[in-house]
Amino acid sequence: MAKKEELECSFCKRKKEDTSLLIAGIDAHICDKCIEQAHGIVIEETVTEENDKVSSEFLVKKPIEIKDFLDQYIIGQNQAKKVMSVAVYNHYKRLLQKPTKKEDDIEIEKSNIMLVGETGTGKTLIAKTIARMLDVPFAIVDATVLTEAGYVGEDVETILTRLLQAADYKVDKAERGIVFIDEIDKIARKGDNPSITRDVSGEGVQQALLKLLEGTIVNVPPKGGRKHPDQKFVEVNTKNILFIAGGAFSGIDKVISKRLNMQAVGYSASISDDRIDDKNLLQYIIPGDLKTFGLIPEIIGRLPSLTYLRPLDKATLRSILTEPKNAIIKQYTKLFEMDNIEFTIANEALDFIVDRALEYKLGARGLRSLCEEILTDAMFELPSSEETKLKVTQKYVEKKLTKDTIKKLKAVS
Ligand code: ADP
Repeated sequence: MAKKEELECSFCKRKKEDTSLLIAGIDAHICDKCIEQAHGIVIEETVTEENDKVSSEFLVKKPIEIKDFLDQYIIGQNQAKKVMSVAVYNHYKRLLQKPTKKEDDIEIEKSNIMLVGETGTGKTLIAKTIARMLDVPFAIVDATVLTEAGYVGEDVETILTRLLQAADYKVDKAERGIVFIDEIDKIARKGDNPSITRDVSGEGVQQALLKLLEGTIVNVPPKGGRKHPDQKFVEVNTKNILFIAGGAFSGIDKVISKRLNMQAVGYSASISDDRIDDKNLLQYIIPGDLKTFGLIPEIIGRLPSLTYLRPLDKATLRSILTEPKNAIIKQYTKLFEMDNIEFTIANEALDFIVDRALEYKLGARGLRSLCEEILTDAMFELPSSEETKLKVTQKYVEKKLTKDTIKKLKAVS
């Protein structure tokens, strides 16, 4: 009988006795050490693959699809949604850009966004919806609380503290997140525009924001504030963070109008030929108007995608009540449904609500408060009753929305 062949690992040729485990395949053997090594390689490869997958997922959605997604939640504001979709698409394309060969060192710059529009027109909603779509951490910061380092208030670094918190302190996640800087107009420089009554610290904060917007490594106090001198800092690179700034820029319509009129006087062909829609001058906004308003050119340059939101008219407010995916009325229907109550509301009742929101200038935010006023009694009583239907008519609404209740809402908003 032939001598039994000595078993060895087919990969490293270790003899069986030199291994802790030798597993047999059809025609080969593998030892525990080689399995471990191979496993390490598998993990390494899948991690890089997953990273690539994560980034390419962003590109799965093309600008038109991004806008389709936004359409489900935001009524109207088509131009803003279009500009946002392109900016976000380009932003994530930039993230995917691999280091290229020397001769092709075209660097795609950041496409941070500036949204100009009255309060309550959906600026925050658009930014939030984009973050939800991309499933990235999202933080909202109010520019009015920011001050230059050394002054009472918050350093600009605390913007990133918020983002870190939203990312469960995972730095790599935060570094791909979205920051919405609200009320950016409030840090405009005093002087150029008489309508600015408050200048928290103006140009100094703008200067401090510059680096953040462009991309830099910042030492972030993870708990925020400056009160703990011994807290450890976390390094956050802002290179791939998308910044969206928003502001009402109240009074900028005068800046735009003045510029347009001057152009018209100078017989600028484009403007004098076209009729100017002076009900919505924001649509003609250009970066230069922001400069006149008091933003420094460097800040404007770092928020290159500039767009505007229209004031909400009656038809838009009416649609906001019922159309978006999580429209207010849909939410109430669901709430009542959970108590087996069929909730319906008449069209005239909805029109009445919208008219009051317009009359008292409550905006889209006011729609919700109005509905709460109308439905609180029903939401309180019906779950304990035998009632299975709630039909809200215009009469019902009129009874609940007295002048006094609306005035009260106005005072709160
Ligand atoms: P802004 O940031 O411009 O002050 P928000 O985005 O906070 O305004 O809007 C306030 C609320 O009004 C939103 O949460 C949303 O319910 C509603 N809203 C405003 N504009 C729209 C819109 N275009 N489509 C749907 N809902 C809107």
